[in-house]
Amino acid sequence: MLFKELAGYYEELEAVSSRLTMVGILSEMFKASELDEIDKIIYMTEGVLAPPFEGVESGVAEKTMIDAIAMATGHSKADVENEYRASGDIGLSAMAASRKSRLKRIAQKQFTVREIYASMRKIATISGVGSKLSKVRLLADMISSSSPAEAKYIARYPLGQLRLGVGDATILEALSLMATGERKSKADLEGAFNICSDLGAVGLVLRKEGMEGIRKFKVSLFKPIRPQLAERLPTAEEIMKRMGGKAAVEQKYDGFRCQVHKKGKTVKIYSRRLEETTQMFPEVIAAAIHDLDAESIIFEGEALAYNDVTGEFLPFQETIQRKRKHGIKAMSESMPLRLFAFDLMYMEGKDYMGIPYSGRRAALERALRNSKTIIPSGRIIATSPGELERFFESSIEEGLEGIVAKDLSSAYTAGARKFSWIKMKRSYKGELSDTVDLVIVGYYLGRGSRAEFGFGGLLCAAYNKSRDVFETVSRIGTGFTEKQLSELKERLEKIRSSGKPVRVDSILKPDFWVEPKYVVVVRADEITRSPTHTCGMRRQGEGGGIGYALRFPRLVGDETIRSDKGAEEATTTEEIVEMFSIQKHLSIAR
Ligand code: ATP
Repeated sequence: MLFKELAGYYEELEAVSSRLTMVGILSEMFKASELDEIDKIIYMTEGVLAPPFEGVESGVAEKTMIDAIAMATGHSKADVENEYRASGDIGLSAMAASRKSRLKRIAQKQFTVREIYASMRKIATISGVGSKLSKVRLLADMISSSSPAEAKYIARYPLGQLRLGVGDATILEALSLMATGERKSKADLEGAFNICSDLGAVGLVLRKEGMEGIRKFKVSLFKPIRPQLAERLPTAEEIMKRMGGKAAVEQKYDGFRCQVHKKGKTVKIYSRRLEETTQMFPEVIAAAIHDLDAESIIFEGEALAYNDVTGEFLPFQETIQRKRKHGIKAMSESMPLRLFAFDLMYMEGKDYMGIPYSGRRAALERALRNSKTIIPSGRIIATSPGELERFFESSIEEGLEGIVAKDLSSAYTAGARKFSWIKMKRSYKGELSDTVDLVIVGYYLGRGSRAEFGFGGLLCAAYNKSRDVFETVSRIGTGFTEKQLSELKERLEKIRSSGKPVRVDSILKPDFWVEPKYVVVVRADEITRSPTHTCGMRRQGEGGGIGYALRFPRLVGDETIRSDKGAEEATTTEEIVEMFSIQKHLSIAR
């Protein structure tokens, strides 16, 4: 496919807001791709160069792009920069500069999608002295021989600012439509995506082998599985009832979620966001190579610093801070990490995900029996709410976060939040019993000194998975620390959007919109119904038409922006609605 054609589809996508129309355009676009380029088109449309676990960053900063636009069009850097500051959109700046180019246009080259993708990959590998100039030249070369419309996307793509309004869920639906003429095969495609975390790879198999290939999709080493997530319920009674009277109850550790892949002496670790984090855990790697009774294995656990002598656990924040302060090596010697393993997905060529929890756990325990570093999570089998409650209390006493109850007969459901895992955390009297993770979609200047400073408050949203959009649920205007104020201002200014981002559904209008990217942890007193927030508003049936909002929201946590979650991993609309009903239920019980 020529890049010109791809840019044409992108222009069409930008011009529409109906999700159905978008799915149609994307499906036509995928259909028009050649057999072995659909993966590249998918990555480009996602705005990335590769799946998250490959860790390929574009390596292009705003300044580099401004220099490239200037070099390609003969305008001064200052002019390009001024234009960019005014529009807030590097793509529009590139398009405008290209239209009014001062240089004699070299005969336009018809770049293919493959060529543009290959150049971007090449740029991502350039480093060291003089690397900026080499990148500028390569980018300028692409821009100067392209049309203004192409230049727009060449400029936006490596900065991660494509602004097409397309999320993973929409891409999956479009792939389904391309392959079967219907959107409902999305579930099968999502199943394949959940076990490889690579939309490009799913697209390739689909293009080459059709749905047949997708149904045969297998878990493979060094392609991380999208993690199973836990539901919430507030009381031991409800958990035990839901579990049918008997359940495994595991301690809930507040550390780093680690998915470990091992084949012989090669071990890699992936985070909850499916990024490779192998470097952070030397002691776990050594233990995985030497201690495990398995040549090849994929399993999951939570890593945190644990003091054998005092029996003290160091939670996530403290573990991270110590690592930063003392360095990974020193820390691994002075206070080694333990990995509390809680699930097994694959071992010695066998897929364990469909095997019931009790079978997976027994096999996992056998594989770990010789390790002191990788140990099974603490757990009991409970047959009454009382037992669960006592285990919960003793876990809290040990300094842990709570418990996760697990259905003994359930399979591992990759990428899904189901009631086969139910978490219960310390509850805070009179407040919501859990924090929520919200995406920042805009910000306000506020009044007086705040306005002068350039930041006054946030507009935050939950993620609606079925609509693939972000729905507002809270305005946060108080309780920021100095550090939070300056960090938020600095980060948000960089991702301002000239208009409302396509995937944001909002009635409120902040002073500035931002691309949905950053997740913050928010605590509130309660959830209320709201006519001004769109969270849950577009639901059909009971309660539809009026949204949900947080009462007295404030940021919590030491990290201002949550580094282990991306926008689509934020709390979902469904969860907010569910938390509202838990809260209603609790207030009746009190
Ligand atoms: P979620 O992962 O549910 O979106 P979150 O990232 O905010 O939310 P929590 O609400 O703390 O995390 O609960 C789930 C997380 O608990 C898991 O992602 C996992 O990292 C962690 N965890 C700790 N101990 C266990 C355990 N024994 N079994 C499963 N998960 C555990």
